[in-house]
Amino acid sequence: MVGCSVVVPMFNEEEVIEHTYHRLKQVMDCAEEEYEIIFVNDGSRDRTSEIVAGICRKDSNVKLIEFSRNFGHQVAISAGMDYASGRCVVIIDADLQDPPELILEMIRKWREGYEVVYGKRLKRKGESVFKKATAMLFYRLLGSLTQVDIPLDTGDFRLIDRKVCHVLKGLKEKNRFVRGLVGWAGFRQTSVEYVRDERFAGVTKYPLRKMIAFALDGITSFSHKPLKIASYVGVLLSLSSFIYLFVVLLQKWFELGTVPGWASIVAINLFFNGIVLMLLGVMGEYIGRIYDESKDRPLYIVRETTGFQRENVNTAAQQPAFVAEGRREQVEEYAG
Ligand code: UDP
Ligand code: MG
Repeated sequence: MVGCSVVVPMFNEEEVIEHTYHRLKQVMDCAEEEYEIIFVNDGSRDRTSEIVAGICRKDSNVKLIEFSRNFGHQVAISAGMDYASGRCVVIIDADLQDPPELILEMIRKWREGYEVVYGKRLKRKGESVFKKATAMLFYRLLGSLTQVDIPLDTGDFRLIDRKVCHVLKGLKEKNRFVRGLVGWAGFRQTSVEYVRDERFAGVTKYPLRKMIAFALDGITSFSHKPLKIASYVGVLLSLSSFIYLFVVLLQKWFELGTVPGWASIVAINLFFNGIVLMLLGVMGEYIGRIYDESKDRPLYIVRETTGFQRENVNTAAQQPAFVAEGRREQVEEYAG
């Protein structure tokens, strides 16, 4: 068992990864802990994997997990945690937006007895106004919708103790929102503050589409309130439509203003249909997630691993069952 495992998810990061490795190594060499760096290649289509495989050959502290395709950032982090053997696990992005030097401070706090040390962003450099504004709104909306204590303005850059990691490994949900799960798990938590740098190179791997999916995962995983709001809106709308129905009937009986009102009928129709479709969409979000869970497919498929002592190399023929088995074995191993 090593002292500290550093998990780095990567998706098309060929421009930065070598540099990231050197900076991480520099920092971890000062950490006075034995360490391993676990790079998780989330189905990159560039040279990321070759570059890291080259590093693995030279440095026995470096390990590589290769996914069979792109499974997403949160799943890549989860895989890294599954394979990590450290007494603490640090999660850090590949693009050096989170300064690796902060890991030393996180380790110091961990030694003081904290089990979760998360990085709190004071400022974000080099990101668009749109991204900053939506992120700010999202964290506040999430905070108001859920009872789980998810700290504002924190990402996945954090250190967690082995105990917390063990709890997270036991959570099998498919739509993962790791920072929420860590908050849900509890334990003694503290923060270190930092200024988020610009990306070292390359472009963001979170286009708007992925950001929306991520935000929906966060909200639906930790709150039922949208469903409640949907039913309140439904009740309110049907009440107001009954009232309007009454008004229409009165008009008819007393023959008041029975001007044929095509425009108002169409407007009301469109309005109500829009609302109903929106509410159905909210239900759909939840039902889709229930469907995902019920299929019980493995969270990810590992094509190959490099540098681990017990090599979990899976061939295509063995995949899902074997991977699921592998995860289970590991969980048992840690439990024992
Ligand atoms: N990433 C990943 N899979 C994905 C998307 C992103 O592993 O499908 C990794 C990416 O390589 C990076 C981290 O997740 O290490 C955060 O992504 P990015 O920096 O692009 O997001 P941003 O900081 O712009 O929100
Ligand atoms: Mg980034």
